[in-house]
Amino acid sequence: MTQDPHGTDPRRQVPRTDTLLADLRLAGAGERLGRGLVKDAVQRVQQRVRAGEVAPDAAVDAVLAELPATASSLRPVLNATGVIVHTNLGRAPLSAAAVEAITAAAGTTDVELDLTTGRRGPRGAAAIAALLEAVPAAEAAIVVNNCASALALVATALGQGRELVLARGELVEIGDGFRIPELLEATGARLREVGTTNRVTVDDYRGALGPETGAVLKVHPSNFVVRGFTRAVEVAELAGALGGVPLVADVGSGLLRPHPLLPEEPDLQTTLAAGADLVLASGDKLLGGPQAGLVLGRADLVQRLRRHPLYRALRVDKTTLAALEATLRGPLPPVQQMLAADVDGLRARARALADRLSGAGVDAVAVDADSRVGGGGAPEHPLPGAAVSLPASFAEPLRRGARPVVGYLEDDRTLLNLRSVPSAADAELAAAVLEVARRWT
Ligand SMILES: *Cc1c(COP(=O)(O)O)cnc(C)c1O
Repeated sequence: MTQDPHGTDPRRQVPRTDTLLADLRLAGAGERLGRGLVKDAVQRVQQRVRAGEVAPDAAVDAVLAELPATASSLRPVLNATGVIVHTNLGRAPLSAAAVEAITAAAGTTDVELDLTTGRRGPRGAAAIAALLEAVPAAEAAIVVNNCASALALVATALGQGRELVLARGELVEIGDGFRIPELLEATGARLREVGTTNRVTVDDYRGALGPETGAVLKVHPSNFVVRGFTRAVEVAELAGALGGVPLVADVGSGLLRPHPLLPEEPDLQTTLAAGADLVLASGDKLLGGPQAGLVLGRADLVQRLRRHPLYRALRVDKTTLAALEATLRGPLPPVQQMLAADVDGLRARARALADRLSGAGVDAVAVDADSRVGGGGAPEHPLPGAAVSLPASFAEPLRRGARPVVGYLEDDRTLLNLRSVPSAADAELAAAVLEVARRWT
């Protein structure tokens, strides 16, 4: 760049903040995004003008280019990791129906008002009704902030100052330092561990029951399996042996019914039908909905949880209730579609993308690549699929692009796994790769 490309020293022509903010387009952006965000962008551009990087009369366009798309800094990301439910990427992507429902409920809404009578109505009744229809073995249900909240509420309401009986092999860490036994103990419940790491029997459970027992808890180990000389007690076997002590099963993944592709994953309907008194699950894992903790089961126990003072601290907001209902009643959410995507279709998408990219001179090939459910679901169950393989150097610029794409490195190549990318986003994915190729090669 020449020293003074516009004939005069740009440093003396830096447009004033007031002048820029008064520009109609920037004033409009200020109304939409907030003046603070626009002012920050103005200041960054003024510095670039001062440095001679931006012409003074191009300052407004430069500010517009700097502005974020929304007033939140969270950006939409294309998840090409092959992990369908990726906790670092916000877990389940919501269905269009759920997004619409959130938008509709975002303003003032009848979440707790019966519009027919004008009186107060039960909060979230429609979402609960949808849950109960989907899981007929449940008599009642409540929704809280997440599955950890559901565990905390159950442990407090049934176990505080009492004992929760739990197998040693189920004292698990779910992820990012979240250890279930620590959460349970934080509520003031005492843990009564039974069995060994690899084996537990009905007699172990029976021997631990006493007047101090608040509940028996079964936790799905989610992200690991014990193999070899093992023995676990199934819900059906345990349910008949507890003499009226509540049996609570944390299934985690949120499958409502058995899923043919995930035969080992527990589901809410089967677990309740087998005799669990309460089941707990996440809303944003395999169910494919918003972050939520679902508690379903016996009406008297659900009522006890609802009446507990802690419930009020854990309840969900109107947008969560709207998204949950729409996930349950609406078309198959993206998580379920991605799970069901067949290998041939994924291979065809990978080939089409690779052809398009290599036609534009990018070193891209279609390869077979396994993907995973994620979110602790089916750790032993890789899903066959396909990816676009690119040079390793693409990974970082793809992540940092205008439309961030997160893939992964394998054998010194960047893989963009297509199972976790909605097929409608393939064109965007190609555009993001082409943009990186244009700017970096
Ligand atoms: C994921 C998981 C949890 C935690 O669920 P959140 O909704 O993230 O709070 C608890 N228990 C099990 C078995 C899980 O798999």
